[in-house]
Order: sequence, then structure tokens, then C-alpha cells
Amino acid sequence: MGLKVSRRSFIKTGVVATVSGMLWRDAARVLPIQTAQAASSPKQTKSADVIVVGAGISGLAAADALRKNGYSVIVLEARDRIGGRIWTEYEGGTPTELGASWLHGIHYGSPAPFLAQTYALGKADPAKGLDYTYRDWLSQLDIRQNQIVHGVSHDDNGVRIATYSDVFNAKYAVITLPLGVLKSGSVAFSPELPLRKQEAIDRLDTGLMNKLYLHFPHVFWEQDADTIRLESPSGDAQEYVNLHKFTGQPVLLASFTAQAAAELEKWSDEQITEHAMAALVRQYGDSIPHPTASKSTRWASDPFARGSYSYHSAVTSGEDMRILGESVNNRLFFAGEATNPDNCASVHGAYLTGLREAQKIMGIA
Ligand SMILES: Cc1cc2nc3c(=O)[nH]c(=O)nc-3n(C[C@H](O)[C@H](O)[C@H](O)COP(=O)(O)OP(=O)(O)OC[C@H]3O[C@@H](n4cnc5c(N)ncnc54)[C@H](O)[C@@H]3O)c2cc1C
Repeated sequence: MGLKVSRRSFIKTGVVATVSGMLWRDAARVLPIQTAQAASSPKQTKSADVIVVGAGISGLAAADALRKNGYSVIVLEARDRIGGRIWTEYEGGTPTELGASWLHGIHYGSPAPFLAQTYALGKADPAKGLDYTYRDWLSQLDIRQNQIVHGVSHDDNGVRIATYSDVFNAKYAVITLPLGVLKSGSVAFSPELPLRKQEAIDRLDTGLMNKLYLHFPHVFWEQDADTIRLESPSGDAQEYVNLHKFTGQPVLLASFTAQAAAELEKWSDEQITEHAMAALVRQYGDSIPHPTASKSTRWASDPFARGSYSYHSAVTSGEDMRILGESVNNRLFFAGEATNPDNCASVHGAYLTGLREAQKIMGIA
């Protein structure tokens, strides 16, 4: 397996800040998607002005903006945690970011305001976590977890969203399903999505990044290095971010992209750790300690992500992302990183699409 750290996080704007601890402390338990046939008959109906599908950053941004402007909003989230592709786990008290790590964009002309404010107020602390900052904000939203949406229908009177336990009615819906989920067809739309949108979904594609965190009892590598480049016994290059330098904790982080990331998903956790340890032992000797904990991600296999983020490929253009973000019948509004042609694949890009769609709804009602 060819292993390498993606430099993406570091080169986009320069490192701005980690999202350590951002919003979400709960570990994810990914629920199996049931087949449409297995869907039991709905037990209850709920109503709101707007249903937001997905409690990632785009959905939360849309819900918050709408709520503040007097709309009743229900957010439906498939997982038993919120945050989507921002996913912080606290291993031994150390925040480890299993999805996004770095916040970009605060040096751009129009950064996500909540990020800018947070940093201007000096509230960000990589070792503490930003969930502290946003707990109040989240407590005001009506977020229903473990609600796997499998059907979205709409007509001139409103929208109807079916999960495996309930049916929700609303005037409008903001759909923030990740591109990979839209591509999988696991959510049925009635009437079907317009052909031009479906063709854009087919053309667009998702990239893959997986992470491996290794927690050690103490640091045995170069303490001041940003990254450490190693070679495994089989000749693979591996590059680790030295998180000790940023958090003070003895933790190494490797990120795998593309084919290496896909390969990783076929391996057991033990195999992945063993592979990483072989390279570390080769470099630092066999007296180094075994990790006290390790964690690796499998974003492609995750039924509620089906990939890490969208990207511009040779056969797609920003136009496809723009089409993906087009509303349908002034009832369905589409947000999420893949609908942002200028800032796809990012936290701030996703956030801005949530605000964009909330504005659209406010413009018509
Ligand atoms: C490994 C990795 C590293 C990254 N690194 C960075 C980084 O350093 N900096 C950066 O800016 N960005 C980074 N990103 C990208 C960033 O995380 C995403 O662009 C952003 O979080 C996407 O937000 P979103 O709201 O569009 O989607 P999501 O966060 O995916 O939200 C969509 C929500 O919909 C839910 N959902 C899915 N299916 C259903 C269903 N059927 N019913 C109900 N709910 C459903 C999901 O569970 C999820 O909560 C990274 C992503 C990954 C995976």
C-alpha cells in the first residue's frame, strides 16, 4: 500500500487552526441502512416550516439561520451523532479529528463568519475543543438523531420526508446529503430529480481520505518536526503529522488518500496498526512502545458519507456543482460542500452553502 500524508490541509491557506473538538464529542455508531422493503410503516407524523436533512455543518448552518429568522425547523440526522464529516473523538482526553482537521478560509474575503468570530474572540483551543464554544447554539436546534431518511417527495403544497420510523411534513426541505449518498441512490426522490441535476450527480465524483491516529505512552520521535517521513519494510512511503508539536500529546497522525485510502478500508484495525508500526520500528528501533490506542477511518464504506469530499475531475466543472445546488420546484433546496463550486471539500465551503439555501427560502417565504 502506498501511504502518504496529504499536504492539502497545509497548503490551502496555510494552517489556520484545528477543528479539534469541534462541536461533537460523541463517537459514531454507524447504523446499517435498511432496504426500502424493510422500511416499516411510519408511526408518527411531524411538521415544521423547514426540514433539514443532515446535521453536518451545512445543515446546522441552514437550520440555525432559519430558526433565528422565525422558521420552525427540524433537522433529521441518520447517525447517533451530529457533525457528519466533522467528527471528533476524545481518546484519553485528546481530541482526534477523524474527519476535517483544519479550518481554512478566515483569510479569504468572505470567511464563514462564525469561524472568524470564534478565532477573533480567542475561543479556539486545539487541545480543548470547539464544542465548548457552540454548545449553546446547538441546544437551540431541534435535531432528531437516528433518523435515516429514505424518501423525499414534494408537490406544490409542500414536502414529505420519510425515515424508517417517521414521516415529516414541511413547506420546504434543505437536503444536505453528501454527494456520495446522492450517487448511491439510497434516498428516493419523488418526483425524480430533474435530469440535469441527476446527470450532474452522475458526473461528479468523490475523493477519499482516511486517517490513522496512533497514541503512544510517550514521544520517541523528533519532537520539533512538523512531519516525519518513513519507509515501511516493503518500501511504502509513510508520512506522519507530529501532533505532539500542536497538542502536546504523544500522538502521530497519518492521512491516506486515493488508492492507498481505499486499500486501507479492506484491512482490519490490527493490520493497519501493524503496518504502521513496522515502519516506525524500522526507523526508531524495536524498543519503541506499542500504541496505547489507535483509530482509523473508513469514509468510503460509511453509508452516510460514501467518500470524503467532492473534487473537480477532468470531466466535471464548477457548473455541475452549481447545478447540484439548484433548488427544485422552490420546495427542495440543496446544500453541502459539493454544491459549492468555489470552496468544495471544505468546512467553510459547506457552511456557506447552508447559509445560501436558508437565504433562498427566506426570499420566497
Ligand atoms: C478525512 C477528511 C478530512 C477532511 N479534512 C478537511 C480539512 O482539514 N478542512 C476542511 O475544511 N475540510 C475537510 N474535510 C471536508 C469537510 O469535512 C467537509 O467538506 C464538510 O464537513 C462537509 O459538510 P456537509 O455539511 O456538506 O456534509 P456532512 O458533514 O457529510 O453532513 C451531511 C449529513 O447528512 C447525514 N446523512 C447522510 N445520509 C443521511 C440520510 N439518509 N438521512 C439522514 N441524514 C443523512 C450525514 O450523517 C451527515 O451528518 C475533510 C473531510 C474528510 C472526510
